[in-house]
Amino acid sequence: MLGPVILAASRSDKMRRFVSAAPGTKQVVARFIAGETVEQVVPVVKEAVARGLEVTLDVVGEDITTREQAAAARDAYLELIEHLAGLGLGTKAEMSVKLSMFGQSLEGGHELALANVRPVVEAAAAIGTTVTLDAEDHTTLDSMFAIHEELRKDFPQTGCVIQAYLFRTEGDARRLSEAGSRVRIVKGAYKEPASVAYQDKAEIDKAYVRILKILMEGDGYPMIGSHDPRLIAITQELARGAGRKLDDYEFQMLYGIRSDEHVRLAAEGHRMRVYTAYGTDWYGYFMRRLAEKPANLLFFLRSMITK
Ligand code: FAD
Repeated sequence: MLGPVILAASRSDKMRRFVSAAPGTKQVVARFIAGETVEQVVPVVKEAVARGLEVTLDVVGEDITTREQAAAARDAYLELIEHLAGLGLGTKAEMSVKLSMFGQSLEGGHELALANVRPVVEAAAAIGTTVTLDAEDHTTLDSMFAIHEELRKDFPQTGCVIQAYLFRTEGDARRLSEAGSRVRIVKGAYKEPASVAYQDKAEIDKAYVRILKILMEGDGYPMIGSHDPRLIAITQELARGAGRKLDDYEFQMLYGIRSDEHVRLAAEGHRMRVYTAYGTDWYGYFMRRLAEKPANLLFFLRSMITK
């Protein structure tokens, strides 16, 4: 019940100001956000790779309101790529981007987001790595998939995300499961209406499994974004059934969530990529993490009281 309330608050400026100024916030945010600057995140990347993990880096931010902010988002990713260039990690360190941060919701936003994201994808390819387009709320997805298709003409390795809670996603999964495509499947983290999305957790899990089957039996490269132990076991079973080797798909989890499981799966020989978010505009990302697990909210409230 709390989840939808927290997700509604994630879009409120008033709550943003309140949460950002609250005592104890920084300490709780630090569980999910790997640092504020690129200089702080680079050692986190190195440590993850040394432990047998891979990463996808997210410069936090979304819902920007000016073209200047969109250009600044592009530049933040370009700065990140400059830092990664010296590490020579190839696809062990890729990037995840939210097109809303690149200007997608502004006037002429589709073209603007494409123009801003293209140099990032180009720069990533130049250092031997890739970019994945995150999935945001359902109103943005036609534009995201069109940008994904456009980018793939020159950079076929560009990935995208699909969300199991949306009715449309089985169709998207079929369309995307062709040779060479990279698709991350997640449950979905936004507040969506019953007209477009399953509301019941069990229904979402069933849809996730149906989509997993489509991806595993298809010709693309599935990226399984989940911390759910049942879905991880089902993934392993389906992958075996489809004759996939351990490096024909990968698991992905969020920085700070079930970290022991990251290491355990990597030690079993799986590719495990940690979605590592950093930056100062962490509010939306942080609130979605609270919404996913009400216990996080209790921990957050307790930290405010005990400060
Ligand atoms: P759940 O059933 O929610 O969780 C399973 C178990 O994992 C829980 O019981 C708990 O132990 C643990 N857990 C899950 N979430 C938390 C948390 N916040 N704090 C503490 N423990 C937790 N969503 C999008 O809409 N678009 C995206 O582009 C997107 N990208 C993602 C990328 C990655 C790599 C991952 C892992 C998730 C992404 N998500 C994205 C979020 C996703 O949609 C879910 O909201 C999130 O993963 C929680 O679902 P779950 O599959 O882990 O299952």
